[in-house]
Amino acid sequence: MLMTFKCKRCHCVFDCDFGSIAMPESSAEPYFERGVICPICGEVTIDDVHLTEPGECQLATETLDIDDDFWDFADSQCYGCDRYLPVNDLNLCDECDNKLDRDFIRKRDWDYSKSVFGLDPSKREELRKQVVARHGEKLELITYSRGKKRSARKHRKRRKKTL
Ligand SMILES: [Zn+2]
Ligand SMILES: [Zn+2]
Repeated sequence: MLMTFKCKRCHCVFDCDFGSIAMPESSAEPYFERGVICPICGEVTIDDVHLTEPGECQLATETLDIDDDFWDFADSQCYGCDRYLPVNDLNLCDECDNKLDRDFIRKRDWDYSKSVFGLDPSKREELRKQVVARHGEKLELITYSRGKKRSARKHRKRRKKTL
């Protein structure tokens, strides 16, 4: 099986036919029949290589049960906090999704808030009070995601200092 790797040591990209690939039950790492050979460094371990994107597809079609995390491939970048975490369809991690939810409540955008969904309308203001009491009145996420990312980051830093 031929796959495209990128060597972490010399940063060259190369195709390597490592024979077959297997996921032994005793090990968390896939086993390559012939080993991975970098044209510059010689034989390298799988820790020394990145799988390139075409390589990822090649691998995915070959072995579906290999854990994606193994390849240093981040899930996705969270739009709110810039960390690589599992994100929802809004590109937000759990934490930021909760922040966004609280922001909607602060702004009284009831239709968007998942916490408000199904809640008796008379209870909404009560919920908002609770959110403000617990997390403050300031928007946590919405202001950040509107502007440019860089300014958002600066903004956040400044905010941390004043806290
Ligand atoms: Zn190399
Ligand atoms: Zn996040």
